[in-house]
Amino acid sequence: MCGALRLSDAGKKVVLMGWCNRRRDLGQIIFVDLRDRTGVTQVVFNYELNAAVHEKAEALRNEFVIAAIGTVKRRDADTINPNIPTGEVELVVEELRILNVSKPLPFLPSDTVLANEEMRLKYRYIDLRRDAMQFNIELRHKVALAIRDYLSSAGFFEIETPFMTRSTPEGARDYLVPSRVQPGSFYALPQSPQLFKQILMISGFDKYFQIVRCFRDEDLRSDRQPEFTQIDLEMSYPQPERVWEVVEGFLTAAFRAAGHEIKTPFPRMDFDDAIRQYGIDKPDLRVPAFTDVGDCFAPADLEQLAINKDLPVIAIRIPRVGELSRKERDDIKPLFVSKGGARVFEDFKRIETKFPEAGARVREKVRAKTGAAAADDLLVLVVGSVQSGATGDAHPASKRKVTPAELAIYASAGLLRVALAQKYSDRHKLFQKGDYRFLWVTNFPMFEYDEANKRWVAAHHPFTSPHDEDMDKLETDPAMVRALAYDVVLNGTELGSGSIRIHRQDVQSRIFHALGMTDEEARSRFGFFLEALEYGTPPHGGIALGLDRIVMILAGADSLREVIPFPKTAAAKDLMMEAPTPVAEGQLRELGIQVKK
Ligand code: ASP
Repeated sequence: MCGALRLSDAGKKVVLMGWCNRRRDLGQIIFVDLRDRTGVTQVVFNYELNAAVHEKAEALRNEFVIAAIGTVKRRDADTINPNIPTGEVELVVEELRILNVSKPLPFLPSDTVLANEEMRLKYRYIDLRRDAMQFNIELRHKVALAIRDYLSSAGFFEIETPFMTRSTPEGARDYLVPSRVQPGSFYALPQSPQLFKQILMISGFDKYFQIVRCFRDEDLRSDRQPEFTQIDLEMSYPQPERVWEVVEGFLTAAFRAAGHEIKTPFPRMDFDDAIRQYGIDKPDLRVPAFTDVGDCFAPADLEQLAINKDLPVIAIRIPRVGELSRKERDDIKPLFVSKGGARVFEDFKRIETKFPEAGARVREKVRAKTGAAAADDLLVLVVGSVQSGATGDAHPASKRKVTPAELAIYASAGLLRVALAQKYSDRHKLFQKGDYRFLWVTNFPMFEYDEANKRWVAAHHPFTSPHDEDMDKLETDPAMVRALAYDVVLNGTELGSGSIRIHRQDVQSRIFHALGMTDEEARSRFGFFLEALEYGTPPHGGIALGLDRIVMILAGADSLREVIPFPKTAAAKDLMMEAPTPVAEGQLRELGIQVKK
């Protein structure tokens, strides 16, 4: 292979096959960097040594495919290339075969400046020849293999489940496949193998996994793929901790395959605490939590500053940002997205400038409480305006521990904290390569209230088990029901979600009811599953993690498209195959489909 030869091979006669990566013609001597997926070797065509071969080599161009037979030679000291493993040798060619030619290319695998992404995706086969892509795809293989090996030795079977199936609710639209033999009927591509893996537990397979493609037709978001790969697993009789142990095990193996050691067990955090401390359900633990500094203000100060005294007064602290200019302080404002009347003081300084007395009174207290020892830490306050939360709130969700008015403050502060941490990452230097902070977020609420449709929806999916202690609130106080659901989070990114499932038919029916489904609807959508639950279903639970995302993080890439060989664009198009496409009239007729423009 082109990356294999070393000094110890000098004198050997070898055959190399690959692409002409670069060609330098010095007249009497032609150098070609011959490339395959393992690397490059310099091959030399020397007129003096072999005029016929040299003449043939004059025809070589970028990305021609050749076989070169020759003798490995130690390079002259002044031509050694210490940057590549084969840099001490070259191949002096005695026989050349041109296996194939190439048209001039739209861009070269060896280009240091990347072509625009549209070009890269249209000519993906050329883009994939680049070192970086070869590295990412190999990494993906190694990571998947490590996960398979780990799970297999932990007693899990990899079992395939169908792609042509019926809808499984995971909160997105389905991709539909029309049936020709059942005109008017459609299969749905799975949003996840959720029901199949639960059925596998009912079928006695005890521990299942699958590295599996899932399909979700979601609204365009920049870094989503309509088909993506999950590490999906399910097991019988687990407590949540057992599922977490398995996930920590295979993530350790996956990260090790990429050369990183991670620490287990991962810390755990209640959903409600995540919201109170980070304003988000996927906290990035590298950045300090925020602090409620309401008690640092005297009632008169709150009044003067028009801060709602009944709502949290959140201080976001970003270390080492340093003194901000007026202009820089103004730049913070657009980062703030106010939910439900939350207000922002972009910089504690602004309070001090505008309200010198109140500012001076609270400055030290706020600094002490937030742990902002250094004067160059940025402090931003997010507070409730006096009006917010003032009106009586008949909203059912108000019975939760965190009220909607409080949630508005936490959520606004949470988004701003993330935006500030990103904006000032050069200054705080908290984002270090290889610093992996994992976290389990647990005890999610079972339901979320869908304001638009005035109904409860499942926060995870409707097969998630409620907490035993909260079962009596299912009908009376759904907002207070916690789910046996958990997310694994890494540096502010959700890697995966899972739950302990409902294994009793009567409980499953109650959940469908709570979600506003009639018996009829439940039976027509999930009748087969409700029936299966009645034939001796063991307690079970599982999780699914996004493989693409994990590989992206390990590759240090900034888009999923960098670690998926044939990805789609944000508009869900495959630019190389040019899919999707209209189809022939006859094909539609056969399917009984008429397209309305
Ligand atoms: N099916 C879920 C998902 O795809 C994961 C799980 O609950 O196991 O998000």
